[in-house]
Amino acid sequence: MSPWFAKAVIFVSSVLVVAIPAAVHRRHEWTRIVKSRKGPQERVLLTLVSLGFLPALIWVATPALAFADYPLHPAPFIAGMSCLAFGLWLLYRSHADLGANWSITLEVREKHQLITHGIYRYVRHPMYFALLLYASGQALVLPNWAAGPSYLVALALLFTLRMGPEERMMLEQFGKDYEAYMTRTKRLIPGVW
Ligand code: SAH
Repeated sequence: MSPWFAKAVIFVSSVLVVAIPAAVHRRHEWTRIVKSRKGPQERVLLTLVSLGFLPALIWVATPALAFADYPLHPAPFIAGMSCLAFGLWLLYRSHADLGANWSITLEVREKHQLITHGIYRYVRHPMYFALLLYASGQALVLPNWAAGPSYLVALALLFTLRMGPEERMMLEQFGKDYEAYMTRTKRLIPGVW
């Protein structure tokens, strides 16, 4: 298959992964941050994630990473597009349900509400699951050993190291309500983990 199919898909999905959260939060009124856990580890991880997002765009726009290219085959391309589509839908749902309680890092807002409805009824971290699915789709669609998996690796590292501290912060903030929420939900995959 021509790599131009992959270039088109990566370009469109990269625009959507930024545009979807921006569109959902366009009208939200953000309340003041009252608690922040954005320490040095979180800063380094967020920087790594931003850097991990770039190789795919570089691959689409320039031949700089051509040394790591391999042929594009229909099976991973179709599987990857399915992951991208489902991941983007889930990203939309989780941003819509979390609303003005969303933050790019570990923060609690002044009028923070614990969300346990919508997609949050099934797992505690649907947004992280959505982004991992999206990044897995990118790794499958993009036929390049360097640019394909770079976002997935960076996100997996961020979420692995962040989920524990995030849940501790939520427990501190919402106490028994979050404890009860934890007992009836899994972290990422309903009924599994
Ligand atoms: N981990 C969640 C949310 C990611 S956004 C997910 O993957 O869907 C990160 C912010 O969301 C954190 O700073 C935290 O303040 C907030 N948050 C996480 N879970 C929440 C919940 N159930 N209700 C309200 N806010 C939540």
